[in-house]
Amino acid sequence: MIELKNIEKYYATKGVKHYVLRHVSTSIKQGEFVSIMGPSGAGKSTLLNILGMLEEPTYGSYEFMGEDVTTLNERKRIELYRNHIGFVFQAYHLIDEMTVYENIEAPLLYKKIGGSERKSRIADLLDRFNIVAKKDLFPNQLSGGQQQLVGIARALAAQPSIILADEPTGNLQSAQAEEIMNLFQKLNKEEGITIIQVTHSEKNAQYGNRILHIADGVIKEDLVV
Ligand code: ADP
Ligand code: ADP
Repeated sequence: MIELKNIEKYYATKGVKHYVLRHVSTSIKQGEFVSIMGPSGAGKSTLLNILGMLEEPTYGSYEFMGEDVTTLNERKRIELYRNHIGFVFQAYHLIDEMTVYENIEAPLLYKKIGGSERKSRIADLLDRFNIVAKKDLFPNQLSGGQQQLVGIARALAAQPSIILADEPTGNLQSAQAEEIMNLFQKLNKEEGITIIQVTHSEKNAQYGNRILHIADGVIKEDLVV
């Protein structure tokens, strides 16, 4: 599903290259649940953003679902993203001016999914995540855990093949964090959705089947859990 070859990312300031990632090569198969771990500043978010096509590598090749991402134009990349990727953020990144319902609906409108199909998918997600009663509320009327459930529902609305999550429980209490990790495990095991998360938590990493340890922009270890 994912094939990274010799990925490098650097920022040049006054002619000096500051490397964030170097020689990163790995492959990830459909159905895996991978945790990216490592110290702060190691390049974890940058790697996740490259996987999610939110950032471009400076060098190297990235193949996603058989497509060579680095050669695609912006329009094709957005299409690939919308068809396959659900992104979940630490700080949720919901749209404050939209209700829970509208936040979940947004990716379906981008994809021009018809009205009745939209309604049934959203109703199903609200029901599954036990947030039916919250559908007309705004994000700031919800707890952090509820906001993250909405963030995940939004990521799932377009029925992605993969969920990319950057510290999804980083702002949550442990009970809420556990609920989110159980949900990820269920999505992975029962629906075969590939999951890649960045986490600082050894406990969270144990929900997956593989850990990539990154330090100084290099994969130092690739462990089976
Ligand atoms: P992590 O997620 O492991 O904490 P990041 O991928 O966020 O690490 O960042 C890795 C390094 O890249 C950091 O040293 C950070 O300062 C640097 N970096 C990230 N984005 C930029 C940018 N836009 N310009 C310059 N340096 C950046
Ligand atoms: P219409 O029936 O006029 O075609 P829809 O019922 O499809 O319109 O929805 C119009 C808008 O109302 C949607 O884009 C959505 O934001 C909102 N909406 C639809 N159903 C609900 C609902 N059950 N709860 C909250 N908002 C909804």
